[in-house]
Amino acid sequence: MYAVFAVSPFITIFALYFESDGCLALLCLKNIFMDYQEVINRIYSDFQSKRGEGKVADYIPALAETDPMRYGISISSLDGDTFAVGDADVNFSIQSISKVFTFAMVLRLIGDKIWEAVGREPSGNPFNSLIQLEYEHGIPRNPFINAGALVMTDRLISLYDRPKEALLDFIRSVSGNDDIYFDQHVARSEREHADRNMALAHFMKSFGNINNDIDTLIDVYCCQCAISMNCNDLARAFLFLANHGVNPLDGERILSVSQAKRLGAVMLTCGLYDESGDFAFRAGLPGKSGVGGGIVAYIPGNLSIAVWSPGLNPHGNSELGVETLERFTTDIGNSIF
Ligand code: GLU
Repeated sequence: MYAVFAVSPFITIFALYFESDGCLALLCLKNIFMDYQEVINRIYSDFQSKRGEGKVADYIPALAETDPMRYGISISSLDGDTFAVGDADVNFSIQSISKVFTFAMVLRLIGDKIWEAVGREPSGNPFNSLIQLEYEHGIPRNPFINAGALVMTDRLISLYDRPKEALLDFIRSVSGNDDIYFDQHVARSEREHADRNMALAHFMKSFGNINNDIDTLIDVYCCQCAISMNCNDLARAFLFLANHGVNPLDGERILSVSQAKRLGAVMLTCGLYDESGDFAFRAGLPGKSGVGGGIVAYIPGNLSIAVWSPGLNPHGNSELGVETLERFTTDIGNSIF
């Protein structure tokens, strides 16, 4: 550590230091004066009448069993604090939030070659659309629509002998929770209703962009979507992105600074299906949602926040989750902009 170089009067103390590889890095030492617990308590209380808004996903029958009244918020800060309210410690199905983990694992191992398999533009289409794939020759627009996520899972299968275990190991290490598991009830239900994902996978295989057996791919993909976590786990698990690629729990560099920047940029532009632009406009944060009703977002150099409310809006994003994150950045007067 070489120097503490700046003190912002209201929010954060930073330190500038050199890593072992010579890279210059910025570390958030302490958020001062911002009472995040008070902020989320107030949002939680003000939004009580909105609980249950939206429609719980039912295209996977096991997801339809979720209580629509659930509502939790959790914040993890880079200085080691956790702030939580409501159902922040109740597990739910993370669904598409898992796509960030698989993407990070593949990006870490194959680097820029990843862009030969998947694009980085918003699709403007629903998460499970087949249409673009035909005229874009089997290269999905981005890693966060289902087609792109299937390609990432396919690469994970090629890269690891035991991809499911590798994925769980990764998530356990970034979340600091060794008990994270695949919810087999949800995974089974998803496998039984995977016709569209099977179609996407077969279609991409016909273009040469899927290398593994389709049944194996769908099995791993359904398990990854069925990972059970809570808001506290998720907020902690995204801190490595807020920390520019380094897991603050053990100091391990997972992504380079540049890779973390790129992953965050894809989250900002593509993380909320065909509502990504509107979410960027409203919340001003890189985020990722799932049809289980969770959304995770982060402020680089500062904190990560997870919200869960199962009712979805017509775009497949948590209705109250989006509202909560918009209100959060408005109340704290801070976002990436
Ligand atoms: N397992 C879901 C599917 O592929 C993921 C949906 C999502 O959360 O976007 O249908």
